[in-house]
Amino acid sequence: MNKQNANHLIEWFHNFGRDLPWRNNPTPYHVWLSEIMLQQTRVEAVKAYYTRFLDTLPDIADLAKCDEDVYLKLWQGLGYYSRVRNLHKGAVKVMDEYGGVIPDNQEDLLKIPGIGQYTSKAILSIAYQKPYVAVDGNLLRVFARLTCYDKDIKTEEAKNACNDFFYPFLGLRPGDFNQALMDLGELVCLPNGQPKCERCPFNNCCKAYKKDKMTSYPIITKKQKKKTIEKTVFVIHYQNQYLIDKRADTGLLASLYEFTNIDQKLDEDEAKAWLIQNGFAIQKIENLHECKHVFTHLIWQMHGYDVELKQLPNKNDLLWVSKEDLENKYSIPSAFSYFLKYLLF
Ligand code: SF4
Repeated sequence: MNKQNANHLIEWFHNFGRDLPWRNNPTPYHVWLSEIMLQQTRVEAVKAYYTRFLDTLPDIADLAKCDEDVYLKLWQGLGYYSRVRNLHKGAVKVMDEYGGVIPDNQEDLLKIPGIGQYTSKAILSIAYQKPYVAVDGNLLRVFARLTCYDKDIKTEEAKNACNDFFYPFLGLRPGDFNQALMDLGELVCLPNGQPKCERCPFNNCCKAYKKDKMTSYPIITKKQKKKTIEKTVFVIHYQNQYLIDKRADTGLLASLYEFTNIDQKLDEDEAKAWLIQNGFAIQKIENLHECKHVFTHLIWQMHGYDVELKQLPNKNDLLWVSKEDLENKYSIPSAFSYFLKYLLF
């Protein structure tokens, strides 16, 4: 690869790059928010969330003073809620320690919750046009094919090699270069199946293309199998009031709301016995479909019951809510979306 190839890439980007809402006005706040949303989430899914989030919280000061329930609600459906919690903590830190200005140096950016190597480099290059390579999965794939990189691409060593390979070509607008590579990875040098090499600005310098070995790269060693947890979920209701619980304030899906559930598969008789033991007087119980939710390292296999009660249990610490509040006020994570949709639609 040489400077001319890099120029071809930028030219290609100006002609064919994606028109994304966060690119219209790439302030540090916009870049930060979009990059955090894009972690683990597809671009198409992020667009509407991004616009809605900014409509409610247009700048960092608004985010810093926002209530937890409000920003969690704005995030509902995106998953990985620690991302928005860290965004909020980060906004508070920027307001308290940096006078509301997101730092333009990596040392300070890395002190902000939720900002790691990649996000700091994305902010610095895209919002401040500083010379950093924002190495993400797209850049790694393009790099691996361009060079026929023959080691596992998921290692620090590979990230460093990718960084060193692209760094000399960043040019005067490093943010454009990074985004051009991201778009090339998304639109042309595709992750699954055959890349569209005939449309690629790098096809005269790509080693994998020359050898017709494009799909042999990148090399990824097999992941460990995910652990499966069997769960029983109870959608408990009494006269249009629905029971939800708040999860613990640390760990998986911290502080979000959920339907009552236990880490065990119960058949109908066992489910009835569990409900009675826990003080619920059953009017009617109905089996719901099974569903599963896949986390990064974990799968929940869920068995649901719709439970209508004869009367409210004699407990004061339960949270009974209306359908309207379930929809608009409380953040129910996507893991329970099947049950939420079952109730609401
Ligand atoms: S020529 Fe093909 S394999 Fe090589 S970088 Fe371009 S799209 Fe990817």
